[in-house]
Amino acid sequence: MNTTPLRLEKIYDLAYSVLSKYGCDPFNAECVATTVTHAERDGSVSHGLFRIPGYVASLKSKKVNGASKPINTHLTNNAIRVEGDYGFAPVAIKVGLPELIKTTRNYGIGILTIKNTHHFAALWHETEALAEKNLIGLACTAYKPVVAPAGAKKPLYGTNPISFAWPRKNSTPVVFDMATSTMALGEVQVAARDGHKVPFGTGLNSKGEKTDDPVAISNGGVLLPFGDYKGSSIAMMIELLAAGLVGDLFSFEAANEDNNDGGPSRGGEFIMAISPELIAGKNWNDHSEKFFEQLTSLDGTRLPGQRRHNNRKDDGPRKINSELLQTINQLI
Ligand code: NDP
Repeated sequence: MNTTPLRLEKIYDLAYSVLSKYGCDPFNAECVATTVTHAERDGSVSHGLFRIPGYVASLKSKKVNGASKPINTHLTNNAIRVEGDYGFAPVAIKVGLPELIKTTRNYGIGILTIKNTHHFAALWHETEALAEKNLIGLACTAYKPVVAPAGAKKPLYGTNPISFAWPRKNSTPVVFDMATSTMALGEVQVAARDGHKVPFGTGLNSKGEKTDDPVAISNGGVLLPFGDYKGSSIAMMIELLAAGLVGDLFSFEAANEDNNDGGPSRGGEFIMAISPELIAGKNWNDHSEKFFEQLTSLDGTRLPGQRRHNNRKDDGPRKINSELLQTINQLI
């Protein structure tokens, strides 16, 4: 794979310019370009510039509102709904999170339900932002069916990611963010683009047979849930929280409605925040540090989020797939 070095400021400028050209207003372009740049900064490449052609496709087809103006409404004292106005999810998140933080600091627990948005990003962005404010963060979202429930050969679930973040005293938060499929679809697409195999059993081909070929999985095949029926139940829970509870589309409904332009389908997101200060009491931080000491003292372990946070320390250029860069430059 040929790569081209690009500094983070240039990545931001490129994303911002392309999004603006295809209809994003300054606030919408800023929110999405920031999310894309942070993904490249942290080495979450399948959610960085790789997503720009899809973002553009959904602006061109007018599926997504590039001038969205999300609005917060309190459903109860500590449950807030963000009406996303059919824009990209990072815009609704930017509008909703400050209210969630304020509410959680008052009540110890807060819920943000995000409706009518198009999510094409990693979820650590929102959970980590909560942990940076000394709150525990949990987020999940559904997508279009690409994952077969345990035992099935046909898809019903999205890759349904879930992210959890825990704040720490003198360190970056502990954050995990993972698809509930064996692999995120973006990673399968990147493997297909770069001609790599994926681990055998990542998905099934169109005949319902287990395969290691990412092309067979993305063209007519399906992904499998991680951990068989256990991951399958977590994927089901995410459908219920992000669609059933939020009051937005289940993955199968999103597929019925989507125009398949290559951009993100419509759907909701469920975010929950908890204040350890209010729930566990003053000693919560030192207490959990003792747990992390035990965990990291075991040979072979590392804390989730550490790889990204290490990547973040590098302020040099990022290596961008040259073909992708050419595609994006042609969009300007
Ligand atoms: P990975 O399998 O790459 O990583 C999952 C998590 O496990 C990460 O938090 C990672 O931390 C952690 N981890 C990896 N290796 C270890 C280890 N040895 N010890 C401890 N922790 C470890 O992620 P996925 O491919 O499943 O998902 C990639 C992204 O795709 C996610 O950000 C997800 O939000 C996004 N996604 C978005 C969708 C959407 O609709 N918007 C749909 C599906 C996925 P670290 O980052 O530090 O490596």
